[in-house]
Parts: sequence; C-alpha cells; structure tokens
Amino acid sequence: ADERESMYLVSEFAQRHFADMLWNSELGKAIGLTYFKERGFTPETIKKFGLGYCLDQWDGFTNAALDKGYRLSYLEKTGLTIVKPDPNNPNGTRKFDRFKGRVMFPIHSMSGRVLGFGGRILTNDKKAAKYLNSPESDIYHKSKVLYGIFYAKKAIAKEDNCFLVEGYTDVIQLHQRGLENVVSSSGTALTPEQIRLINRLTKNITVLFDGDAAGLRASLRGIDLILEQGMNVKVCTFPEGEDPDSFAKNNELEDIVGYLEGNAKDFIQFKANLLAKEAANDPIKRAETVRDIVNSIAKIPDGIKQEIYIQECAGIMNVSESVLFSTLAQIGKKES
Ligand code: ATP
Ligand code: MN
Ligand code: MN
Ligand code: MN
Repeated sequence: ADERESMYLVSEFAQRHFADMLWNSELGKAIGLTYFKERGFTPETIKKFGLGYCLDQWDGFTNAALDKGYRLSYLEKTGLTIVKPDPNNPNGTRKFDRFKGRVMFPIHSMSGRVLGFGGRILTNDKKAAKYLNSPESDIYHKSKVLYGIFYAKKAIAKEDNCFLVEGYTDVIQLHQRGLENVVSSSGTALTPEQIRLINRLTKNITVLFDGDAAGLRASLRGIDLILEQGMNVKVCTFPEGEDPDSFAKNNELEDIVGYLEGNAKDFIQFKANLLAKEAANDPIKRAETVRDIVNSIAKIPDGIKQEIYIQECAGIMNVSESVLFSTLAQIGKKES
C-alpha cells in the first residue's frame, strides 16, 4: 500500500510539473498552451482538468522529479520514465521521458487521485501513435478507469444519465459547454468494470459515436455488456467527420442538447434498424441479423423488457414475433 501511495505521489508531482511547464515555460506556452487554446479550451477548463505539456527533451521531467527526491523506481513503475541499457556503457542505463513533446491529459480516479496520463502528439508524424497512455500499473488498471469520472460523477447522479464518448477532448469540450455528465473509455473497448462505475451512479447511458463509422459495428458489441447490467442504453451518432468535441466546439449548449435529444435512439431499436437496412433482401443475411438482435435482447435481465423489445423488433425487421421468441428460447438454453 505504501508502494502504491508513492506511485500516486510521483504521478501527482508529474501532473503539477506538466501543468507548470504548460503555463510557465516559454516552449510550453508557445506550443502546448497555444494548442489547447486553438482547440477552444478556456484557461479555466485547462486548469480544471489539470492539462499540461511535457517538454520535447529526453529527460527533462525525469531529472526534475529526481531532483525533488522522487525515486527512480516509482518513476519507472508508473511508466513516466523509461529506463534502458546504455549502449555506450555496459553497466549503465539511460532514462527517457515517456511523454516527451506531448500535451498531457491526467487521468483521475473516482476520488480525484492521478492514476496515469494520456499524451497527445502535436506533429503530423503518421508513424507515431497520436495518443500514448501510461502503461498498466499497480495504480492504473485501464479496464477499471473511465476518463472524466471524477469531474462527471455529481452531474451523472443529478441528471440520472451518463454520456459515454470516445476521447479525452470530447469529455472536456462537452464539459466546458455545460454538459458535465460525460465520461470516456479513451479508445479501449468497454469493460464490465467500467460500466459498473457508471451503474453505481445511474441506470441510464447514452453512447455517443464519432461520425467516422469505422468502429461503429464493432462498438455495438460492447453495448451488450451494458444491457447485461440491466441498464437502459441509448446511442447517438454524429455527422460524417464530426465527433462530440468538434460538434461541441462549433455549437452552443442549447443546440448540442437539442441535437442529442433529437438524435439519441433506443439502442435495440437503433441496432434493429441498422441490421434491417443491411440485410434488406438477402434471406441468409436476414437470418443472421435476426440471431444478432435476439442475442442482444437475450442479455437484458428483465423479462418484460425482453418481451416488449421482441414485439418492437418483429415490426422493424419484418419477421414474426414467434420466430424471435423461439430464437430467444434457443439462446437461453445454450447459455444455461
Ligand atoms: P483528437 O481530436 O485529439 O484528434 P480524438 O479524441 O478525437 O482525438 P479518436 O481518433 O477519435 O481521437 O480516438 C478516440 C480516443 O481513442 C482518443 O481520445 C484516445 O484516447 C484513443 N486513441 C486514439 N488514437 C490512439 C492511438 N494511436 N493510441 C492509443 N489510443 C488512441
Ligand atoms: Mn474516432
Ligand atoms: Mn474522436
Ligand atoms: Mn477529435
């Protein structure tokens, strides 16, 4: 437990250091702060989310931490510093800042402690990952963390709904606009543990998808995990090329809320419509899509809701209710 506390402390030092560089160093101001301002983030927002900048030096951060007395072992365990053998010295090592030259998004626990970071590259280098994350560690378990949960938890409970988005900047931009009940799984597939964090605050989730369609079909699978926990799920897509961040940057709060109210659809209905369109007149494909939608309905713990969805989907997919009911019964048997 002491070891983990030391990891929290060095992470929290890193957060303060990166913020200090962003606000007070010439390069941090010129590069990092300018970048965030161009994305439309206000100084208040940048401060609230603890955003920062890691200077484009090999070991500037690592040396600052060592100078303050933080131990190399914790810098390494949190992944903030990468230690490699020194090619020029068989017994020596070299230390590198993992996040060199990136703008920094600290990732907080439900109670506000710094667990790790996401760092975004600022160049258009196609070979380097756009976002780099802290590695899995004793304090940072990716499958159990939702970005923004510390800032969103009050609003999630108050609004009795949680918006789930893809990225860091989606959370921040919506929050700045006044929509504070927003969290992100930050590019990883949704896990049962992440859903449980939300489930403690509300039974209602609205999933917002980037308008790039790429991952839509794959992401729909993850939503079955939300149904399994007995939660109500809506989904909302954005126009081609837009994500919640860009949409929120270009629209006022009332237009954002209006768009969400007008476009959020019940997940089962959304999926049934999507599948019906895809399969159209292909009988084999239609059989597959019937199984697919019933698979989702089978995850819902509440039998009454299941029955209502069966009736709805029979209409949408133009098959008889009895076919859907017997498919549901078959799936139930296989699982038990
Ligand atoms: P931006 O607007 O800054 O370009 P984004 O948040 O819209 O980024 P997406 O490409 O939509 O980014 O990806 C959604 C999320 O997936 C990101 O916020 C990030 O958490 C994660 N992600 C994206 N690209 C990578 C990558 N190359 N490596 C790791 N995670 C990534
Ligand atoms: Mn995307
Ligand atoms: Mn995006
Ligand atoms: Mn984006």
